[in-house]
Amino acid sequence: AVKQEGGHQLRSYVPELEEKLDHRREVHAEIEQALDEGRIEPWFQPQVDLLTGEVVGLEALARLRTVDGRVIAPGWFIDVIEADATLIRRLGLAMLNGVGIRLPQLDAIGLKVPVAVNIGARHLLAPGFQADFEGLLARHPQLTGRIEIEITEAQSLHDLPRAKDVLQRVREHGVGVALDDFGTGYSSVANMRNLPLTLVKLDQDFVRDLPASVEDQAIVSSVVVAARGLGMRLVAEGVETDEHAELLGALGVTLVQGYAISRPLPLAELGRWVSDWQQPANWCSWARPISP
Ligand code: C2E
Ligand code: MG
Ligand code: MG
Ligand code: MG
Repeated sequence: AVKQEGGHQLRSYVPELEEKLDHRREVHAEIEQALDEGRIEPWFQPQVDLLTGEVVGLEALARLRTVDGRVIAPGWFIDVIEADATLIRRLGLAMLNGVGIRLPQLDAIGLKVPVAVNIGARHLLAPGFQADFEGLLARHPQLTGRIEIEITEAQSLHDLPRAKDVLQRVREHGVGVALDDFGTGYSSVANMRNLPLTLVKLDQDFVRDLPASVEDQAIVSSVVVAARGLGMRLVAEGVETDEHAELLGALGVTLVQGYAISRPLPLAELGRWVSDWQQPANWCSWARPISP
């Protein structure tokens, strides 16, 4: 009876697995075709400084346009890309290049600010990364001093000494380095101490429940102190509400990114957003002197 049961489980498991594999093959084929046809492009999400209400940076986020004109976010394809060394490299290059060719248009709408591009750990640690990166800067010299790269803690930087070395060379080109999804990865504090970072991005996990969680408030306050002491900027991700923004500012996190400011936008919609953007007055009420 035990044997029969096992056999039954196996039979129902295999089609499910095959379905999954079919799906991954389908996604893989679509990504390759999209990369060939230039259908993966950067959208942009602004970061603002609560103290001034000004846009201080943009994060470039990949969007895939299907042949029938739909726009797909990375949730659908990023796992498949990250599992394939060739694809993660092609995505990185497509995004860096996509940002490079859009800089004049960003300048034209008044967004002369740093633009962050996400780079997969696997690409960063690959032997060809440095040559790729230097080749890109040679083709788009205007990216120097303008782009930042984001590496996520969630993907293991298993070779920390090597990551440190590669990032140090990136820094030597005047390019900033952000540690993304800070607090969700393996040994966050060690990463903060060992990597040549210019910026730390506090993960949405610490922002979401901030108003109700004194624990998260305590952690955020201590990250503020650590970042300040190490000379790194700190940006909070996933800032969705007025309350998040107000509380973050009061805790000392003055750079914010999230739906409360804007969703990621295609370049064509960014100009209108910039001219409409006005920070709600209550977001930095904590910064104003109390009137007598
Ligand atoms: P990430 O780098 O941490 O980017 C932030 C994600 O949170 C983005 O999702 C963004 O749209 C979303 N987000 C922004 N504000 C809010 C908010 O207020 N609330 C919520 N719930 N979400 C918010 P997206 O664009 O779907 O990207 C997901 C992840 O895919 C990124 O996370 C990043 O790890 C990866 N990714 C995106 N573009 C690229 C890329 O060009 N290269 C690589 N290697 N990875 C990328
Ligand atoms: Mg990111
Ligand atoms: Mg992030
Ligand atoms: Mg994140």
